[in-house]
Amino acid sequence: MGRPLLNRRLAAFGTTIFAEMSALAVRTGAINLGQGFPDTDGPEEVREAAVRALRDGRGNQYPPGPGIPELRTAVAEHQGRFYGLTYDPDTEVLVTAGATEAIAASLLALLEPGDEVIALEPYYDSYAACIAMAGGTRVPVTLRPHEGAFRLDLDELRAAVTDRTRLILLNTPHNPTGTVLTHDELAAVAALAVERDLLVITDEVYEHLVFGDAHTPLAGFPGMRERTVTISSAGKTFSYTGWKVGWITATPELITAVRSAKQYLTYVSAGPFQYAVAEALRLPGAYFDTLREDLRTKRDLLADGLSDAGFTVFRPSGTYFITTDIRPLGESDGFAFCRSLPERCGIVAVPNAVFYDHQAQGAPFVRFAFCKREDVLKDAAARLKSLAP
Ligand SMILES: *Cc1c(COP(=O)(O)O)cnc(C)c1O
Repeated sequence: MGRPLLNRRLAAFGTTIFAEMSALAVRTGAINLGQGFPDTDGPEEVREAAVRALRDGRGNQYPPGPGIPELRTAVAEHQGRFYGLTYDPDTEVLVTAGATEAIAASLLALLEPGDEVIALEPYYDSYAACIAMAGGTRVPVTLRPHEGAFRLDLDELRAAVTDRTRLILLNTPHNPTGTVLTHDELAAVAALAVERDLLVITDEVYEHLVFGDAHTPLAGFPGMRERTVTISSAGKTFSYTGWKVGWITATPELITAVRSAKQYLTYVSAGPFQYAVAEALRLPGAYFDTLREDLRTKRDLLADGLSDAGFTVFRPSGTYFITTDIRPLGESDGFAFCRSLPERCGIVAVPNAVFYDHQAQGAPFVRFAFCKREDVLKDAAARLKSLAP
């Protein structure tokens, strides 16, 4: 009875800052730029496709374990259409409960206790917890500010590989920094993975939210197709984050392994939504172009507002997050800053320190989400101005 209820693997992950910050937003009536979800829904025809599926009784009972054939085919077509990659919908695609389950199932399936996992720090919050649940050891490689962006040091990455390294967990475009790895960086990661015979799990949920060159999937590099688990999701691309439809593309062997874990997590999920996402993936190019251009406008609106308010702004190349440095405002502790921000100017943001193992490294950085209506972002920019030193 004296033993703590939460087990040792998860003890460090008991509470999240998101709950505290969202509660603060509600209590103070502040604009919530903390959590990353759009404040308007995605395309109406996609929503109507879900309604039709519900009404027609498609997906209302357990869908097939790997996902409905229509969606697996649409995912395979999407990989061909945008990237020229070929996947067999029957053996090389697995539908999951969002990217979150895809990440969890991949790590649970592919890691033995004690295996090391290299991940880019700051990390998306579920990575550390899932590596821990799988009994793995995380090895952070920290992205550091350099000429206006957070950059990967390839020598540091290379030096982080040991005989115990099982896989690299990559995320590009990267949350929370907005960094998009360049073609050369991806080529170097690929060469390292091949040389050291590592698996790679690559989280590409922001594949369509890039503002420079089009997204390049790691699986397309030489030697990578057979060792890469590529993860994406409908949530970010189609602005339906509540639907939780994600997917994995990989070789039949990797898919089979990951499915072994996935079948005992959720078994299946989101039946009718799978039909809707199958249609969404086939939307014309104009949809994806408009999504990107619309977000670019929003990025610039909030980035300019943050600059005017005195922050150092790392203008993101992808995602819908902006990381800032608060030191020009005379601040150095992101936690304290974020706790005071609702009272000071009616805005909620997230301290990047929560995404670091070494919280001190992330202390002066704060993340703002810009997937909000333009009028909300203009209001936010005006409120932030009151911080200007
Ligand atoms: C939002 C997000 C996810 C989770 O995607 P879901 O489909 O909602 O589970 C995974 N990875 C990153 C980097 C994200 O930002």
